[in-house]
Amino acid sequence: MRYSILSLARNALSGHAHWPRAWRDPPLQPAYDAVIVGAGGHGLATAYHLARDHGLSRIAVLDKGWLGGGNTARNTVTIRANYLREPSMRFYAAGIRLWEELSRTLNYNVMFSQRGQIDLIQTWAKLRDVKRRQAALRLIGVPFEILTPAQARERLPLLAPEAPVRLPVLAASWHPTAGVARHDAVAWGYARAADAMGVDIVQNCEVRSIRREGDRVIGVETARGFVATPRVAMCVSAHAGDLAATAGFRLPIETVPLQAFVSEPLKPMLDVIVNIPQFATYFSQSDKGELVIGGGADAYPSYAARGSFAVIEEAVAAMLSLFPALKRVRMLRQWAGSIDLCHDITPILSPAPVAGLSLSVGWGSGGFKAIPIGGVALAHLVATGAPHPLAEHLLLSRFAKGRPLFETAGASNRL
Ligand SMILES: Cc1cc2nc3c(=O)[nH]c(=O)nc-3n(C[C@H](O)[C@H](O)[C@H](O)COP(=O)(O)OP(=O)(O)OC[C@H]3O[C@@H](n4cnc5c(N)ncnc54)[C@H](O)[C@@H]3O)c2cc1C
Repeated sequence: MRYSILSLARNALSGHAHWPRAWRDPPLQPAYDAVIVGAGGHGLATAYHLARDHGLSRIAVLDKGWLGGGNTARNTVTIRANYLREPSMRFYAAGIRLWEELSRTLNYNVMFSQRGQIDLIQTWAKLRDVKRRQAALRLIGVPFEILTPAQARERLPLLAPEAPVRLPVLAASWHPTAGVARHDAVAWGYARAADAMGVDIVQNCEVRSIRREGDRVIGVETARGFVATPRVAMCVSAHAGDLAATAGFRLPIETVPLQAFVSEPLKPMLDVIVNIPQFATYFSQSDKGELVIGGGADAYPSYAARGSFAVIEEAVAAMLSLFPALKRVRMLRQWAGSIDLCHDITPILSPAPVAGLSLSVGWGSGGFKAIPIGGVALAHLVATGAPHPLAEHLLLSRFAKGRPLFETAGASNRL
């Protein structure tokens, strides 16, 4: 967004009366060429690419709440490509290249900060895992190094000196292209750019069911009436199972709470993302100074957007054992989201068993990083009916064929 200092001052003094609207509030039309359900990062990015790259002109994104208010608003914004399976690595590495350009692409500052990620390795099993990943990532040119504990301490002065902790740091991995971005700016940037190309973003418009005739989708029933369309894309995160049921099929997904919390703001003290994989705990410092901390998913399925205290205790214990200097830091707030986990900890970006219906679901604890590449890939699928070449491993049919992917380098503590 380009505003001069004078324009900022004028708007500040006039009660913001002259700000242009970032996107319209259009009425719902009775028919569209494509309807995207869910105005989170994935739905909005898909709409943007459908309009920009595939020339579809009548596109709607419908959300039951406000845009960007789902998990996109609740996540801890870690972006990385240090996965284990080759197709995952290629997919997320392509995603990082899109992140590097995203502010320019959208003409909107998404505050992408490529600060790198250090994983602190505390068991021999994890060390074997990162060595395997290093070899695999090297094959496709994703930067990923293994550090000695001394090298890790050089980059992370906060890390406790060697001490008799229960699980000492045996090594660390360094993934320099990892980063963070501002979550709501990502949703707003895509929304503004899609709206400018004529996409209707209709908020407060729940999709109650997907209507089919025979094995084809013909539209969606919404809180504001029926909308006819030959193409529906489902980007509803934790609500995918319910919506799929209305179209007559089931998804191999369970919904679990995942929580995060932030500390009070601190002076700049941490310029990388720290991950403690043994305890599924990670943290980074936001531009406001807060430590943004994530823990593991809760162990039980639930739609409750709150998590259990045991997860917070485990995350804090893991942090303090390695970073005792943080023991006097106070917690500011905590929240949770409901995430959709596939049984193989890998998302589904695929045609559904109903013709004309496409799915982008099951992103679990890792879908924020995938927003730009997920949008490209889903738009390709919706427009052409064929999977994007980088997303062929994400088809739903892998379950029926007995070929789950088991991405052990997902952020979840489920494997
Ligand atoms: C605590 C937490 C931490 C996380 N940390 C990370 C991280 O560090 N890195 C990372 O990559 N990922 C992370 N994630 C995961 C990431 O947030 C999600 O995978 C990602 O936001 C999914 O984006 P989305 O657009 O698919 O879903 P959402 O942003 O949830 O959007 C889905 C939208 O669909 C709407 N919707 C649902 N049902 C309907 C309906 N029936 N009709 C109309 N609209 C509907 C919702 O209102 C919502 O706005 C984290 C998640 C949580 C909860």
